[in-house]
Amino acid sequence: MKEAHGFLSIEESITLHLNSKVKKLAQSGHKVFNLTSGQLNFRPPLDLISAIGKELNFLKSFQYAPNAGLEELREKFLLKKSKDRSLSLESTSYDCVISNGSKQSLFLTMKALLKPGDEVILLAPFWGTYFKLIELCGAKPIIVDSHLYNSFTASVEDIEEKITKKTKLIIVNSPNNPAGVHYSDDWMKSFAFLLEKNSNLYCISDEVYEGIIYFDPDPKYFYQFNKNLLKRTIIIDGISKSFAATGLRIGYAICSKELAQILTALQSQISSAPNTLIQSALIQYDFNTLEEFKVPIKNSIRACASILRDAYAQYNISHNWYQTTSGFYYFLDLSKFSFFARYNKKGDLSTQICDDILEKTGVALVPGTFFGKSNCARMSLTIEEEAFREAIELLFRFLES
Ligand code: PLP
Repeated sequence: MKEAHGFLSIEESITLHLNSKVKKLAQSGHKVFNLTSGQLNFRPPLDLISAIGKELNFLKSFQYAPNAGLEELREKFLLKKSKDRSLSLESTSYDCVISNGSKQSLFLTMKALLKPGDEVILLAPFWGTYFKLIELCGAKPIIVDSHLYNSFTASVEDIEEKITKKTKLIIVNSPNNPAGVHYSDDWMKSFAFLLEKNSNLYCISDEVYEGIIYFDPDPKYFYQFNKNLLKRTIIIDGISKSFAATGLRIGYAICSKELAQILTALQSQISSAPNTLIQSALIQYDFNTLEEFKVPIKNSIRACASILRDAYAQYNISHNWYQTTSGFYYFLDLSKFSFFARYNKKGDLSTQICDDILEKTGVALVPGTFFGKSNCARMSLTIEEEAFREAIELLFRFLES
């Protein structure tokens, strides 16, 4: 991380920045299809909203919570994960630390684990924030590539090749942002074996999109194949995606009790515990109603994914399509479309291409650069179906011109 003018040099998160660019364009009268969003177009569950209202009546809702978060909620998250994974995380060995969004949970974890010179393996395409957080900790991101034809899933063999004496951590994000797929049970089994062989490695399992699986449900995670791996695993999750509540800022880390103590101490110095009101409301909210809440959300994402599949078929390029299964994104390999021949420069042109696409079609995409992949772009499947259809028609007419 370079310094400029004596200050730390770091860019604003690109997705948030792009959203404001798109808003400005729309405000100036252009028809814009914003496919950059990292959030759902739904309000959180009504029962959660009314629980927030009820909790407003209590003085304690406006006061500090314990640094790791309210105990009852920590236990509730532990219980939920245990149930979802058929584990018993609520034992004496593990703990849950609640933070202001899972982004903060990730930062606390990396700050606690990494020292300058350590290497961290990232599987491309990856959420660009990981890269920045690793650098902020003075560590070095090491990238393992993947491609469209394996649904953007890096192979375990390729990961193994990148492990050195300096490797401290591997980050696995399944379901994946930006690919919109989760890794197969076979992949997870091989990955568990790899971690077993490398007993000095830690693994972050970022599961924030896990609640949104609309195809091939109920995937397994590596630590379910070998429960001993949980001692070296940090599970990251939160309410942003699966409760449609990005703005409420609640995320959490589940890890060994020893590491949880360090995350708590760090958090106590940086921000204290997150918003007590929202934590209290989450204690009142019945997590068992979540599946029902998510039915229309999943239907809407699935409908957008089908529109996309049909567009590939209509242009006879289905061989360049892959089936998304989870989360709410699709990752376009721009180099596979006819229009790409017009860009006869070498290197990563995704930012320039996304700018051209926005200008010519009004469709806003996030350049692949942010996800560690050249000449790609991420699109969100979260806008209303008819608007999405219109956006895809305009986009594909341009891409196949
Ligand atoms: N992890 C991944 C893979 C994400 O895509 C995001 C947000 O887009 C986060 C973590 C952070 O989520 P939040 O801080 O809102 O909980």
